[in-house]
Amino acid sequence: MNDIFMNTYHRLPVTFTRGEGCWLFDTSGKKYLDFSSGIAVNLLGHNYPPLVKAVAEQAAKFFHVCNYYQSDTSASFAEKLVEAAAPAGIKKVFLSNSGAEANEGACKLARKYSLLKYGEGRHTIVTLKGSFHGRTITTLAATGQERFHRDFGPFTEGFVHISGGDIETLDKALDGKTVAGLLIEAVQGESGIVPQSEEFIAAAAKICAQRDILLMFDEIQCGLGRTGTFFAFEQYRDGDGNPLKADIVTLAKGLAGGIPAGAVLAGEKTCDVFTIGDHGSTFGGNPAAAAAGLVVLQTINTNAFLSEIKRKGEVFISKIKKLSKVKEVRGKGLMIAMDIEGEAWSVLERAAARAECGLLLLMAGTNTLRLLPPYVINDEEIEQGLAILDELLG
Ligand SMILES: *Cc1c(COP(=O)(O)O)cnc(C)c1O
Repeated sequence: MNDIFMNTYHRLPVTFTRGEGCWLFDTSGKKYLDFSSGIAVNLLGHNYPPLVKAVAEQAAKFFHVCNYYQSDTSASFAEKLVEAAAPAGIKKVFLSNSGAEANEGACKLARKYSLLKYGEGRHTIVTLKGSFHGRTITTLAATGQERFHRDFGPFTEGFVHISGGDIETLDKALDGKTVAGLLIEAVQGESGIVPQSEEFIAAAAKICAQRDILLMFDEIQCGLGRTGTFFAFEQYRDGDGNPLKADIVTLAKGLAGGIPAGAVLAGEKTCDVFTIGDHGSTFGGNPAAAAAGLVVLQTINTNAFLSEIKRKGEVFISKIKKLSKVKEVRGKGLMIAMDIEGEAWSVLERAAARAECGLLLLMAGTNTLRLLPPYVINDEEIEQGLAILDELLG
């Protein structure tokens, strides 16, 4: 059956037909415990009643209107999103469909800001090695991992990758004459859950502020409560020890709990840079996605919900530390990686193939397993999944 798809994914022979909470069921009725959330997408699990209801209600009105006009649902969603992001310095939003599209928009915004203020030649965007920013030609150029760059050049010009953690290199790379922005994942996802150090982020914030270089965070995987705060970067401080404010933030993945959605969020400096005709997206702000996004924001953005994410993350980490075959475990909230002795792919394959009850895992590198469970997971499910993992690691 998979022969009709282009050969882009290393797929397992599993076809799902329905889901419920943290569980998915395949064509034979076998159940699987989901520790992946479809890569940080299904934040509220599967078949979450308020989400289903909100989307169904919107579907009964209309799915889509073009951006010549506005939908009430999309406007409410945008308002809620900016409200949630306001403590981090955000003023306005552009809605898109995906992470790559959000990062493309962010790069356009940063370049136009710099062009208007400083003229030509100050368009470079600095990103980090090990980063992942998307699969379009421009976001691949932004991605600091060589393995994604084979075969697809030439890439968009004006991207430089530096090592995270190295403040001296950062200081050199952030040239006020040529650089428009610094784009960072506070916690890198695809390269194995790698949080940036407090010193590095503080230095980045300070240098960016001094040289009017835009501080941009890609929160597509680590944002939306994943690490226990609405944005992961909110756990960091700026150069003066104050709460960190961002100039641009991108979101996608879990933003609409499983329906495609992305967002470019802009702070004071950049919120009025785009003018009519500068940017657009047919499906951006789609009402069905917005209806779902409203439920996501209303559900996750409370102190009680966010502290539960932190607590569950701690339960995961303390239990994983006791697994004998795990060499190292890293994590913040429900964003967890473990380096194992064997091949991660083999564990992932056996976890899915396991009789009666499978386990859905993710990887991030040859020997690293990654867990991004739905936020609605309970302690019993954590216990159950890790018992399966323990059995598979042997
Ligand atoms: C997944 C991801 C993207 C790309 O998102 P798409 O929706 O697949 O385009 C960009 N940045 C980060 C950090 C991601 O995890």
